[in-house]
Amino acid sequence: MERTLVILKPGALQRGLVGEVISRFEKRGLKLVAMKMKQLDQSVLDEHYAHLKDKPFFPWLCSGMMAAPVILCCWEGFEAVKVVRAMAGSTNARNAAPGTIRGDYALSAQENIVHTSDSVENARIELDRFFSPEDYCSYPSPLEQYLYAPDEK
Ligand code: UDP
Ligand code: MG
Repeated sequence: MERTLVILKPGALQRGLVGEVISRFEKRGLKLVAMKMKQLDQSVLDEHYAHLKDKPFFPWLCSGMMAAPVILCCWEGFEAVKVVRAMAGSTNARNAAPGTIRGDYALSAQENIVHTSDSVENARIELDRFFSPEDYCSYPSPLEQYLYAPDEK
């Protein structure tokens, strides 16, 4: 099964939306396999947002990501990367479709509640950035037969 990283950004914690957002992934049927709360620092954000380091908003983005702790989650499921990315919605929350997390809970291009990995390759890199092998929990999923067809693995 595919795994992807979700970061509940400081705004999610400050606004009391952690439960709501996690609940969406749970209800969709995704499996939570690792989770931790962490205060991010500049050095990890330099890596995580390296593709944005020359953008004028980079310093604001980093301050926003360090304004409070984040919740790091690894969700597992068939094609989880694209499923979770679609649930987040467009980066600029003002353009995000209603029904997506950003489209329902945010109004900003920066303060947009969640980070989600954008490809299978980046999901691997990002999960390795924030989690060690011992952080992952293995447990039975008795509902799997009701969530997927036999070839959806
Ligand atoms: N961001 C921003 N202004 C922009 C584009 C992005 O503040 O014009 C912030 C926003 O918080 C976004 C993050 O930078 O979530 C990472 O940008 P990316 O393009 O990777 O978007 P994402 O993958 O989060 O949708
Ligand atoms: Mg991105």
